[in-house]
Amino acid sequence: MITTGPEIEVVDVVKTYPLGEGDVVAVDHLSLTIETGEFVAVVGRSGSGKTTLLNLLAGIDRPTSGIVRVAGADLGGLSESGLAEWRGRNVGLVFQFFQLLPTLTVVENVMLPMDFAGKIPAHQRRDRAQELLERVGVGDQAGKLPATLSGGQQQRAAIARALANDPPLLLADEPTGNLDSHTAGAVLEVFADLNTEGRTIVVVTHERDIRSIVGREIVLADGRIVTGEEAVTA
Ligand code: ADP
Ligand code: MG
Repeated sequence: MITTGPEIEVVDVVKTYPLGEGDVVAVDHLSLTIETGEFVAVVGRSGSGKTTLLNLLAGIDRPTSGIVRVAGADLGGLSESGLAEWRGRNVGLVFQFFQLLPTLTVVENVMLPMDFAGKIPAHQRRDRAQELLERVGVGDQAGKLPATLSGGQQQRAAIARALANDPPLLLADEPTGNLDSHTAGAVLEVFADLNTEGRTIVVVTHERDIRSIVGREIVLADGRIVTGEEAVTA
């Protein structure tokens, strides 16, 4: 498939969750365009819809209404299995609590998405995983179990795993939320380096100095993008 247009195009998306009598509106008529190669931070208070938006971009959740186009695909047109296959090839996900599998070594964790997607030839997977770990600064931890690594090292390993299938897009939900501020800064620098190589990155964060690192900040409040005076108080 030939991919043209922006990396991400969200058009008038609504996401509601059923709750008791009524519905919770998590994302409220939101439209957004992110070009290929952008590094974007999504900020906003707890409950403002950041995780919901990221899950929509990753095809983990489906919108109640509206259109989500990512990496050349209209996600609404894909089946569950089609979505999973698309995600495996096009999106690298990084989470707050790393979510490395505890019984696999670090290098095996990085190889796992390659085994699922089948995009990287089998005989290249271990070397590629090792190279990715070296690139993010934890090559010497490859043979260890995740629990023996520090938080910052585990998040670096999780970033290497997110890069396993060389996705054009990285999505990270509060990747520094469980790290001290010094370690958080170093992890954000890893994302900045990856962006310099041309990868599109969207990171949900509470880091106050994120503006000096990213190209653009999107402020959410009550499921909408806010700007100007509203954004300052959000
Ligand atoms: P954030 O990541 O900014 O904290 P979320 O996207 O997690 O915000 O949540 C946005 C709103 O949607 C909140 O009001 C939250 O309570 C609600 N919400 C999120 N997930 C669910 C769910 N699975 N069921 C019901 N409500 C949800
Ligand atoms: Mg969240």
